[in-house]
Amino acid sequence: MTFAIVGQAVSRGVAIGRAVVVASGRLDVDHYFIDPEKTTSELERLGRAKDDVIQEIERVKTQVSTLSAHEVPAELTALLDVHLMLLSDESIAEGVKQWVVDRRYNAEWALVAQLDVLSRQFEEMQDPYLRERKADLAQVVERMLAALRGHEGSLLQRSPRTSSQPGLLEDSPEVPLVLVAHDLSPADLLQFKQSVFSGFVTDVGGKTSHTAIVARSMDIPAVVGARASSSTIRQDDWVIIDGEAGVVVVNPTQAVREEYLLKQQSLAKARGRLRKLRDTPAITLDGQRVLLEANIELPQDAEHAVAAGAVGVGLFRSEFLFMGRVSQGLTPLPNEEEQVQAYTQAIERMEGMPVTIRTVDIGADKPLDRGMRGGDEHLNPALGLRAIRWSLAEPNMFLAQLRAILRAAAHGKVNLLIPMLSHPQEIHKTLQMVQLAREQLDQQGMVYGPIQLGAMIEVPAAALMVPYFLRYFDFLSIGTNDLIQYTLAVDRVDESVSHLYDSAHPVVLRLIAQIIQQAQQAGKGVSVCGEMAGDVAWTRLLLGMGLRRFSMHPSQILTIKEQVLTSNTQELAEWAQVVLQSDDPAQLLRQAAQVA
Ligand code: PEP
Ligand code: MG
Repeated sequence: MTFAIVGQAVSRGVAIGRAVVVASGRLDVDHYFIDPEKTTSELERLGRAKDDVIQEIERVKTQVSTLSAHEVPAELTALLDVHLMLLSDESIAEGVKQWVVDRRYNAEWALVAQLDVLSRQFEEMQDPYLRERKADLAQVVERMLAALRGHEGSLLQRSPRTSSQPGLLEDSPEVPLVLVAHDLSPADLLQFKQSVFSGFVTDVGGKTSHTAIVARSMDIPAVVGARASSSTIRQDDWVIIDGEAGVVVVNPTQAVREEYLLKQQSLAKARGRLRKLRDTPAITLDGQRVLLEANIELPQDAEHAVAAGAVGVGLFRSEFLFMGRVSQGLTPLPNEEEQVQAYTQAIERMEGMPVTIRTVDIGADKPLDRGMRGGDEHLNPALGLRAIRWSLAEPNMFLAQLRAILRAAAHGKVNLLIPMLSHPQEIHKTLQMVQLAREQLDQQGMVYGPIQLGAMIEVPAAALMVPYFLRYFDFLSIGTNDLIQYTLAVDRVDESVSHLYDSAHPVVLRLIAQIIQQAQQAGKGVSVCGEMAGDVAWTRLLLGMGLRRFSMHPSQILTIKEQVLTSNTQELAEWAQVVLQSDDPAQLLRQAAQVA
C-alpha cells in the first residue's frame, strides 16, 4: 500500500531505495555488503556462530541440571529450551539466509534485519505469551552477535557500494538502501558516513539537531521528525525520501517513482551546473568580497571543503573526534597526540587556508559514549554541563585539547573557537587555561604556533554583551542554531515544538544584526556558522546585515556562492533595515523570495 509521511526537510536531494529498518535500535553492528562469491563462507560463519551458541546453551543446561531446585529458578531451563528452539527454527534461519543471499548483507546485518521483521510479527500477535517471545528472540540474536565476533568476517569480504547512482532501480542486491530509524545519534551517523545508505528517515529530530547536521555534511537526502516512520515502514519496502520537501513516500506506484526519478536527475544536473562556480571568487555585484568557509566534523571532510571551493574551515566541530569511540575499540577520549594528528591532518588538507577548530561541544544531543561522563542523564541537557562548561569541569581533558590545537597551529593558520560562553567568569577561566596550556608546552619544550582566539555567540547573554567579548577575543562566530534555541526557549531537537523554532523571529534577527554590527565597529572578524549560513533563504538578509563571512557544509557552498554573485549589498543593506524593523519579517522575506 502506498502512503506518505511528512517530516522535516533537512538535507537536499531525493533518495529512492529499499528500507533498512532499525527500529530495534541495533545500529552498532557492522553493515556492509559481501562479495557475491563470499556468500557461502558468510553463511558458514553464521552456521559456526549458531553451533557455538547451541553448545554454550547446552553447557549451561548441563550445569543447571546438577543444581538443586532452590539454587536455580525453574524458568531458567524452560528459557534455555526456548532459546534452543528459536535457534533451530528453520523459518528464522531461512529469513537470515535470504538477507545474505539475496541482498548480500553481512551476517550481523542479516541477523538484525531478520530480528526486526520477526519482532514486528511477535508484536502483532494476540497471545501475550507469544508476544513476549520477542525478548527471547532479541537475546538469541545478541548471543549470535557475540559468537560472530569470535568468527570475524574478513575485511576482504566487504564489497564497495556502487549503486547510489540515481536511476538504478532494478530489483537486484545492488539496489540503493535507505535507513529508517526511530532516532539516530550523531555518533551513529558518523559510523554511516562512508556507508551503504543513500538516505535516511527518523521518527524524531529537528532541522538543526546534530543528526540533521551530520546528514547535511554527508550530503544525503534525509527527513527527520517523520513520526511513526520506523513503525509503519517495513523492512525492504520501497521508499522515496524527498529531502527538499520533507516527505517520505512508502511503496510508491510506478508513476510516482518515475516522477521522483526525473526530479533526482534534474537535481543532479543542477549540481553539475553549480560545480562550474567552484573557482569563481565570491564577489557581489557591487564588488564586496565574501568569504565562504566550510563546517567539518572529521579531518577527512576537509577534502570536501577544498573540492567545494571553500576558502577555509570556519568550524571544525572537534567533538566528533570524542564520540562513538568505544564501539570502535578506542579509548573513551582521544589523547593529545591523537588530536594533534587529527587537527594537523585537517590543516594540511586545507592547503594553507585557515582552519577554525572549536573546542569540544559535548552535551545535549551530542553525548559522549554511554557511561563515559558518569551519570549523563541530566534533566535539561541543553542547559546543563555542555560545551565550555564541560571543558572547564574537566581541566585535564581541556588542557590536552588546547595543547593539541596549539601544537597543530605550528603547521598552518589556526583559529581557536570556544563554544557556548555565557558568563564573564567563563571567559576569564578559558583565557587562563589557554595561557596555562602554552606554559605547559614551553616547559616541555614543545613547538606550537600562534592562534587567533574566537568566541561563539550562541546564547542571549553573550549576544547582549558583545562589546565585553570583543575586549578579549579576536573574532566572533555566531552559532545561530543554538542562539535561536536559547533565545526562543525551543529545543532544537524536539520535533513537537519545531514550528516554534523560528529563525525569522524579529528578536533573533535583531540580535544577529546587532552582533555583526558591533563586531564590525570594533574592527573584529565575525562570521555565522549555524545552519542559517548555508541556507539560501537567508543569504541576502545576512549580506544586507553586513555579514561577509559565512561557514557552512561544503555541499552548500556553491549554492550560496551563486546567490552572492547576483547580490548587491548596498541595495540589500537598505532592505535589511526595513526587515529588521518589521514585526513580521517572515512576510517581507516571502515577498522578496517571490520577486527574486
Ligand atoms: C550553532 O549552534 O549554530 C553551531 C554552529 O554549533 P552547533 O550546531 O554545533 O551547536
Ligand atoms: Mg552551537
